[in-house]
Amino acid sequence: MIVTLRKQSDKQDVERLIQQLTLKGIEVNYSEGETHIVLGLVGDTTGVDITWIRSFQFVQDVTRVAAPYKKANRQFHPEDTIVDVAGVKIGGQEKIAIIGGPCAVESKEQVLRIAKEVKEAGATLLRGGAYKPRTSPYAFQGLETKGIEYLCEARKETGLPVVSELMSIDKVEEFEKHVDLVQIGARNMQNFDLLKAAGKMSKPILLKRGLSSTIEEWIMSAEYIMAHGNPNVILCERGIRTFEKYTRNTLDLSVIAIIKKKTHLPIIIDPSHATGDWSLVESVSLAAVAAGADGLMVEVHDQPECALCDGSQSLKPKKFKEMIEKASQIAKVIGREL
Ligand code: PEP
Ligand code: MN
Repeated sequence: MIVTLRKQSDKQDVERLIQQLTLKGIEVNYSEGETHIVLGLVGDTTGVDITWIRSFQFVQDVTRVAAPYKKANRQFHPEDTIVDVAGVKIGGQEKIAIIGGPCAVESKEQVLRIAKEVKEAGATLLRGGAYKPRTSPYAFQGLETKGIEYLCEARKETGLPVVSELMSIDKVEEFEKHVDLVQIGARNMQNFDLLKAAGKMSKPILLKRGLSSTIEEWIMSAEYIMAHGNPNVILCERGIRTFEKYTRNTLDLSVIAIIKKKTHLPIIIDPSHATGDWSLVESVSLAAVAAGADGLMVEVHDQPECALCDGSQSLKPKKFKEMIEKASQIAKVIGREL
């Protein structure tokens, strides 16, 4: 971190700042130039709040040289993290994971039917929301505990590990017991109490990017989970809010390469929420695989017109299977496989 001070700064004030930084374990290199004083901060500055330094009125500018995250940082952990989800490995250079299933668990029969279909198509994990974060309080809110129960039955029938969204801290125990991959949704990406609780769980976490979050904010949320003890975090890009209205969200594909550069965590793409339109899901999925995504999470429904949530962005099982076959070909070209 580089701190620039005004030349006229009071020597005692500067001394006091240096002392406080030294107490935080930071080495401070002082140099006085013609027009400014520059402090070069060396050491772990992740715990140093830039706004605190700016609050000293003789400080003119502060620039971070190192990223504010440590545990998620590729610099300190050069190898790819491979997250084990009940035996299915996500991340690394070879396999690309496919997660398929309905937006919401609607009934036992529905989830069992779709689970069998997605497995047959080649998915290695089953998704299904039991607690749904809906914009309208009058929309279907999910089957809650019953939904988790039906998801577990689908796992028993198919052998597919299950992914479901945790919305509240008071359900941590239920998820710890029954869910293989715990999803933190876009709307809760900065629910810091929930992130801390996820950090204390033994299950891997699927952290979606917030509706309007920067990449750094997203990584900092992963850092929260990791700093509280859980190193098994998978990132999921699901599109962000922009001025574009044609799609539900705007998929940021560049994020795949950026996340891989900045962090060692796996990144998967959710083409369903990214587009909001089933007819766009295939092309976006193929692009994501080509761009190096470690997985796809796709909404699949056998009767989209009857779906209680997100039918318009759900692929029918046949289309899902075709998409996987095409994605498989793309994966081969880049030396990976599904
Ligand atoms: C979901 O995956 O069902 C979901 C609600 O996604 P997001 O949090 O990305 O909107
Ligand atoms: Mn959905």
